[in-house]
Amino acid sequence: MELRRLDECLPGLKGKKVLVRVDFNVPMHEGTISDDTRIRAHISTIEKLLASGAHISLVSHLGRPKGTVVPDLSLSPVADRLSEITGWAVDFVDDCIGDKVKQKLVNQKADQILLLENVRFHAEETKNGASFAREMASPFAFFVMDAFSASHRAHASTRGVADILPGCAGDLLVREIESLSKVRDNPEKPFTLILGGAKVSDKIGVIENLMDHVSTIIVGGGMAFTFLKAMGKGIGRSLCEEEKLEFAGQMLTLASEKGVQVLLPSDVVVAAEFDAQSQHRIVLAEEIPDNMMGLDIGPVSAAAFGESIRASRTVLWNGPMGVFEMKPFAEGTKMVGEALSQCTSNGGMTVVGGGDTAAAVNLLGFDRAVSHVSTGGGASLEFFEGKMLPGVEPFVID
Ligand code: AMP
Repeated sequence: MELRRLDECLPGLKGKKVLVRVDFNVPMHEGTISDDTRIRAHISTIEKLLASGAHISLVSHLGRPKGTVVPDLSLSPVADRLSEITGWAVDFVDDCIGDKVKQKLVNQKADQILLLENVRFHAEETKNGASFAREMASPFAFFVMDAFSASHRAHASTRGVADILPGCAGDLLVREIESLSKVRDNPEKPFTLILGGAKVSDKIGVIENLMDHVSTIIVGGGMAFTFLKAMGKGIGRSLCEEEKLEFAGQMLTLASEKGVQVLLPSDVVVAAEFDAQSQHRIVLAEEIPDNMMGLDIGPVSAAAFGESIRASRTVLWNGPMGVFEMKPFAEGTKMVGEALSQCTSNGGMTVVGGGDTAAAVNLLGFDRAVSHVSTGGGASLEFFEGKMLPGVEPFVID
């Protein structure tokens, strides 16, 4: 998928007022930003625009204020952090539309960046209200979409303004789409899909869309127990999506018809409670006691998964292998991360879907050892389901 890129548009942007959709939806703890990865992800795009002499305004959401002004969800601390990280002059305005914004833009200097207030303080944002989008677009001559992680939403700031203003994809959006397209549209074989996390339901579309392209599907995490139960195994008090048992059974049959190998855990780490302090032990997947729950894959499973991953040329990973947030149940995710990093060193293309899997690889220190860690959880899932993302569509040229 080819996108209209920032580099092609830069020569025409000198002195123009440019609106950039970023994702500054950073985790906040008591008014302080606890992780600024999302801010840093947009620096390349902003830097190029600054060098081109454009007058830049940034627009983003933060949390879910649901159309009301929630002071704790103000983007004001982000303006300070962006300035601290880069040394750039970053001004802030406490709205994203209207006279206050226009006034700030009248006095804006070329090397000064303006951050607009949380766009979701207006209810029309998530409804993609036409007059709201027009109002947001009105002071600007050009739009740059850089927020891949919000691109699966057809909101005013992700789609509405793109339908009004000329625009292009920013560097982060291009990087995401290029990396994810290599895996979705042109994977080198063997191609292994690793799925984990809590829910089967979130990943059904991905399984269905990639079934014809993958060589192996590895299923770990909480969702593995729905598959084990569909195979008639006892799973004790482990997670199970009863309404997805039928899908799990059908998927196993389809995979075997298509010659796709499915690897499920053969051993699991079980505990009596969903608690890091709970006593835990390793049991065979056939022998999960009725009163216990599986919270991680066991070492034999992790070794088997690792072997398949290391032998792959393309790997897509979505969903941790266990409750990685609790140390006793992080080992399976860690071993899979290690195998992924070895696959990358051997020249394989390894992509980690965003959300919890990205959090896991960051926490366990594998973020630099894989080819690409997506910044978008929901967006990357929808991309791998084969959907056209509404925030990307306006910039597709091929
Ligand atoms: P998801 O958003 O579906 O990818 O789920 C991610 C969450 O799944 C993480 O917070 C993990 O702690 C959780 N998870 C992974 N394995 C298990 C498991 N065996 N039982 C319960 N939760 C799990």
